[in-house]
Amino acid sequence: MIQDTILTLARALSTQSISMVDKWANQHCLLCRGAHPSDTSVCSGCQADWPRFSTPLCRICGDQALTEDRICDNCDRQRPPYIRASAAFPYTFPVKEAILRMKFSRQPEWAIALADLAYPCFEARFDQLHGMLLPVPLHPRRRARRGYNQAALIARQLSLRSGWPVNETLCRRVRNTPHQARLDLQARKSNLSRSFEVCAPVPDCPVIIIDDVVTSGSTVSAISQVLQGAGCEAIHVFSIARALSEPGLSQADSSSANEQT
Ligand SMILES: [Zn+2]
Ligand SMILES: [Zn+2]
Repeated sequence: MIQDTILTLARALSTQSISMVDKWANQHCLLCRGAHPSDTSVCSGCQADWPRFSTPLCRICGDQALTEDRICDNCDRQRPPYIRASAAFPYTFPVKEAILRMKFSRQPEWAIALADLAYPCFEARFDQLHGMLLPVPLHPRRRARRGYNQAALIARQLSLRSGWPVNETLCRRVRNTPHQARLDLQARKSNLSRSFEVCAPVPDCPVIIIDDVVTSGSTVSAISQVLQGAGCEAIHVFSIARALSEPGLSQADSSSANEQT
C-alpha cells in the first residue's frame, strides 16, 4: 500500500519534472527563434543588440533635436498639447519588426516582450509621478478585425509592473480614419482632429497616453487636445518606439510609411 503510494508520487513528480525540463529546454526567443534557458521572451543575444537612441532628442516631442536647447523646430514653432512624449527605443530593426508582427501578424505575445524591455525606461521617465495609463484607442471595427488593441495590451503590461491603473474607456475613437500613410502633416492633423472623443470625467491625476509607436505625433496630439478640452491638465506620452525624422525631411515625409494604427 505504502509502496503503491510512493510509486504514484514518484510517477507524478517525474511527469512534472519532465514537463518543466521540457518547458525550459523549449523556451525559444520570440525574435531569432533560438532556444534559450530564460524566463524572458527575447534571448540575451538579441537583447544585447537591441537598438538605442544615438542622437539628441527633443525634450518635448522626443523627435531628433540637434539644437543646443534640445527643442526641435516643430516644437519651437508650436508647442504640442502634451507635456512630454518619450519612447523607449528608436523605430528601427528589430523593434520595428516586432511591432509590425504584433499588429499585423497576430502575434500579441510581443506586447509582453516589448513592455518588459521598455519598462526600465518607463520607470526612469515617470519616477516621481503617479498617473493613469490611457492606451490610444482603436476604432471598434479595426479592433474587431485585429482581435485586440496592441496599445491596450502594452498598457496592461506596464500597469502590472508599475501598479498604475489603465483606463480603456476614458477616450474612444469615433471615426475610422484611413491609414495616415502618404498624407502630409497638415492632412494628418485634419484627418485626426475629430477622430477622438472623451466619454468619461477626466481623472485628477496625470494621464499617460500609451502607444506602440509614435511617428509624426499627430495621433497623440489629437488625443491630448480632446483631453485638454475635457479639463485634463497633465498629459504625457509614452511609446515603445519613436520614428525619428531624417534631416532635411519633414516629420510626415520621413515617417509616412509607418503611421498605421
Ligand atoms: Zn534571440
Ligand atoms: Zn519636438
